[in-house]
Amino acid sequence: MRSTISRPRFFLTAVFAALFTLFIGTLGIAQIIPAHHGDGEFVNPYEQKGERRFVRALWSWLFSDEWQKYDPTRDHVPSTQPQPAGDVSDNATVTWIGHSTVLIQHQGINVLTDPMFSKRASPFSFVGPKRVTQAALALDDLPPIHAVVISHDHYDHLDTSSIRGLGNTPVYFVPLGLKAWFTKKGIAPSRVIEMDWWDEYVLEVGDKQLLITATPSQHFSGRGLTNRNKTLWAAWSIAWPDFRAWFAGDTGYNGVQFREIGERLGTIDLGIIPIGAYKPRDMMGPVHVNPAEALQIHRDVNATASMAIHWGTFVLSAEGVVTPVQELEKARAQANISEAEFSAFAIGETRHYEARAIDDR
Ligand code: ZN
Ligand code: ZN
Repeated sequence: MRSTISRPRFFLTAVFAALFTLFIGTLGIAQIIPAHHGDGEFVNPYEQKGERRFVRALWSWLFSDEWQKYDPTRDHVPSTQPQPAGDVSDNATVTWIGHSTVLIQHQGINVLTDPMFSKRASPFSFVGPKRVTQAALALDDLPPIHAVVISHDHYDHLDTSSIRGLGNTPVYFVPLGLKAWFTKKGIAPSRVIEMDWWDEYVLEVGDKQLLITATPSQHFSGRGLTNRNKTLWAAWSIAWPDFRAWFAGDTGYNGVQFREIGERLGTIDLGIIPIGAYKPRDMMGPVHVNPAEALQIHRDVNATASMAIHWGTFVLSAEGVVTPVQELEKARAQANISEAEFSAFAIGETRHYEARAIDDR
């Protein structure tokens, strides 16, 4: 006996099955591939893209009268002697080394954010943005560093000689795509943990534990002309059982990601948030917050306290070196936020933050 299914019916069934498989497959892919994983590059899911933003911005930057050269007699960046913690401290001890480099010490665990100790933020030693203020601590004066978090690969955040100087002592937490860079510089693969947004890792240091979580930020990456957005950018939650710091890295503002971070992390005892390199807004706006937006991030993530970084160290943008901190003061008054709640440290300043009595992370 021949088949009871007629040819047209068989054809229709096959087409339906194919379409159904495709539909389910698409659903599956949509669930598996996160919104920030683009086609061959990483993307910002909530960035408002401006037309011809870059050309217009470059023009206004080059010809703007906002551009200022650093004048140490006029632009005073306060600095002071750091007071890092001893071996054990009951409260968290936080020192601003300069730019986005912050030393966080608690329960005998020492963490460093975006270590940058070099004279220039550049692939070259003779050209590129030069420090206007010295790093408050030299690499050799650091206590033993157990963990380093890296926000992204721009030269002012990922510095070859600083990483070589730290060597294989710390464990490096890096966004997706950056592990190869570290291993090429001689760092052992086992010392580099590559993470996507919302990945978590528990680092054991003696009998203590540190929970590291990569969280979203809105930025971009690239160290040359050909590798733009090939590696991811991230902010980092660094959590002891009774104290959580959240390091924003470099970021622009959007109304979604920081609220999500606040909701998902719960308590943030200290936000470490950039306030500089925000002019001209056409170019910098989507990738670098201004002081008012930094305060908004502080509120969105629901941080108990925050400190300002990414100012007073390198001239990377069209605003003056001390303008961000002056604007921060105005923005704080407007938003009714005190200096204690969102602090501008002096370079080298060490402050202490009380650990929580109960573990509620
Ligand atoms: Zn950057
Ligand atoms: Zn930067």
